[in-house]
Amino acid sequence: MSQLDNCPNCDQIYIRNAFREVCENCYKQEENDFQRVYKFIRQRQNRTATMDQVVEGTGVSENLIIKFIRKKRIQLAQFPHLGYPCDRCGTLIREEKLCSACKKDIQTQLSKLDREEERQRALHDQAITYHVVNKKFK
Ligand SMILES: [Zn+2]
Ligand SMILES: [Zn+2]
Repeated sequence: MSQLDNCPNCDQIYIRNAFREVCENCYKQEENDFQRVYKFIRQRQNRTATMDQVVEGTGVSENLIIKFIRKKRIQLAQFPHLGYPCDRCGTLIREEKLCSACKKDIQTQLSKLDREEERQRALHDQAITYHVVNKKFK
């Protein structure tokens, strides 16, 4: 589906569709940048470059490089030191959406919630029992 929208990059009005998240100009610019990044990391001595080194070596912004990685245009398997930020804390990760620390943290919070829910349910059950017993003896 196509619709008029503002380019998220430069704010120009453009026709948005599933394949174009940015306007024609920005798209071309992005393609240029992608080629530059790709050429850079494909060089043998740059295979192990970190994000900072790639930014420095190409002049392309980290955000854009992360976008390429998220879109799988840059295959992380081939570049051991590249990654994208954890959705929660921004640590560089290489798979899924969260780093292991955040995953663990969320797990802990969830089980805490589970326990709290169980406690509430137990209290509730007790209250009902109490109510019923009370009625009986009235
Ligand atoms: Zn644009
Ligand atoms: Zn995290």
